[in-house]
Amino acid sequence: MLRRYYKVVKMSQIDKTEKKGLIVIGGGITGLTSAVTWARFHDTKKDPVLIIEKEPKTGGFVTSYTREGYLFDTSQIIPNCNDMFELLGIEIDLKRFKGYYTRVFLVNPETEEVTKIELPSGVDVFKKKLMKEYPENAKEIEKFLDHSRAMFLELFKLKTEPSFIELLKTIVSCPKIVKHGSKTFKNYFDQFGITNPEVVEIFDAFAAFSGLPGDRAAALMTLGAMNSVLDNAYRPTKGFIELTKQFEKRFKELGGEILLKTKVEKILVENGEVKGVQLEGGEKIYSDFVITTIDPKVAMKEMVGLDKIRELDEKFAEKVDQVKMSPSSFNIALGLDDEIDLAGLGMDCGYNVVTTGGESFSKLFEEYEKGNMAFTEKQFHMGVICPSLTTGGKQNITIRVVPVGLGDWVKLRENNLEEYNKKKEELSNFFIDLVEKYLIPDLKKHILVKDISTPATYARYSGSPTGSIYGMAPFSDNFGRTRLKMRTPIKGLFQPLFSHGIFGCMLGALQVNDMILERKILGGNARLKPDK
Ligand SMILES: Cc1cc2nc3c(=O)[nH]c(=O)nc-3n(C[C@H](O)[C@H](O)[C@H](O)COP(=O)(O)OP(=O)(O)OC[C@H]3O[C@@H](n4cnc5c(N)ncnc54)[C@H](O)[C@@H]3O)c2cc1C
Repeated sequence: MLRRYYKVVKMSQIDKTEKKGLIVIGGGITGLTSAVTWARFHDTKKDPVLIIEKEPKTGGFVTSYTREGYLFDTSQIIPNCNDMFELLGIEIDLKRFKGYYTRVFLVNPETEEVTKIELPSGVDVFKKKLMKEYPENAKEIEKFLDHSRAMFLELFKLKTEPSFIELLKTIVSCPKIVKHGSKTFKNYFDQFGITNPEVVEIFDAFAAFSGLPGDRAAALMTLGAMNSVLDNAYRPTKGFIELTKQFEKRFKELGGEILLKTKVEKILVENGEVKGVQLEGGEKIYSDFVITTIDPKVAMKEMVGLDKIRELDEKFAEKVDQVKMSPSSFNIALGLDDEIDLAGLGMDCGYNVVTTGGESFSKLFEEYEKGNMAFTEKQFHMGVICPSLTTGGKQNITIRVVPVGLGDWVKLRENNLEEYNKKKEELSNFFIDLVEKYLIPDLKKHILVKDISTPATYARYSGSPTGSIYGMAPFSDNFGRTRLKMRTPIKGLFQPLFSHGIFGCMLGALQVNDMILERKILGGNARLKPDK
């Protein structure tokens, strides 16, 4: 009761007539990081920063939720973000996955035989293990991993918005990125001559982390994800909601303000400059800086208006039109009884991929792009995560299926709830059967609670009409230099939304603040230096 009273008083204290130093649209991890970074590098009494969030709580996709006493987590793992946490003063208790952090269960669809591949943490351990287990490809594996590591480390030498001279220097300092940066992962990978299908499968799994198959995902995206989780993979010990809580706590300590249950309807622009935002209901809040962290297509098309952008920068407007958002997902969170021994089944790791491998993910993606869902008993790809072995509490697992399109999910939920629930039930049973067959024997006997999220769920929570779960799709033509720029043509308006994941979201948020503060945070670098 006391807590609720405190919150109401706090919210009513927000002075909406005061001009803000910065307004952040959306209180997900990108919005929280953007706002905390501003607060950390400004005097918030002079330059107040306000987050406006449409939901009753912050966090967006980075959250946990309780159903009948089970704590379900939305996300599964993050790479090493510790330098960013340290810079911002975020204290979070994380579990580091030692031993293996991911397992791949490769199912032969004809014989139904399963090959289990464990991926250990640590670049060198990983390399040695692969070279030992696949001696016929040892040299190629070593060459690929060394080359990709060197290319990954070049990322630390890139500037976010390089000057002409800096761009020229990149040719010398980042030769691998210059040569291979615009390739798809497959194009890049194929040149190393790795032939063993299991090894190919392992590396393709990293591309699939971004929701795209290796023949479509940007090489740099896949290498970045691979090398950063190889360094270390973590999960918050109290669930992902703790990450959000710690960001919110830090933000308030630094004097930041949060307006919940408030939807931004328009971004105010005059003479090519941002002036603030208009809320649903018409109220306006003014600021010379706005960071939007919602679906960039919605922000630019519906909140600003593409014509206004086109007048300033035709190319940017065109890019907004072309950008494709990442796929959505179908998630089944299962509360289990105490009888099942999840640790004994090796589930205490970051992620389990259960896949028919080969071309499966590419074919599923191809069909997804046509609006179909082509999962069958002989062609599937999914993730299985066990948060409860990290967070403690009642045992649970989540089955995560990607790529899934919006299809008729929203229409069904709005117009025919019975049909919507039936479809959810049937589809969830299909995936549960597969997990029972290939990963967790007798799973169904142990299920006590089932909570399903569909693309309609993700569309509703994020406000992204496609229900995309990984922001913009990191195709090779929308990554690095070719991605939709963070600095929009409208002076003072920034959109850091990155292609994928919590790490990328946080980094994008730091980068836009670095732009606003004219390189005072990162020195214009695309990454925090490893020694910081
Ligand atoms: C099921 C799932 C599993 C994932 N697993 C991982 C993982 O293991 N590791 C990883 O790194 N990443 C993972 N991701 C991706 C990661 O969670 C996202 O990339 C990241 O959380 C996106 O954060 P964001 O702040 O950019 O967007 P969001 O979280 O979507 O936040 C946007 C916020 O804006 C608000 N908003 C929207 N419109 C408006 C408006 N008009 N006015 C005001 N507020 C508005 C929304 O309510 C929302 O809170 C996962 C995502 C999902 C869905």
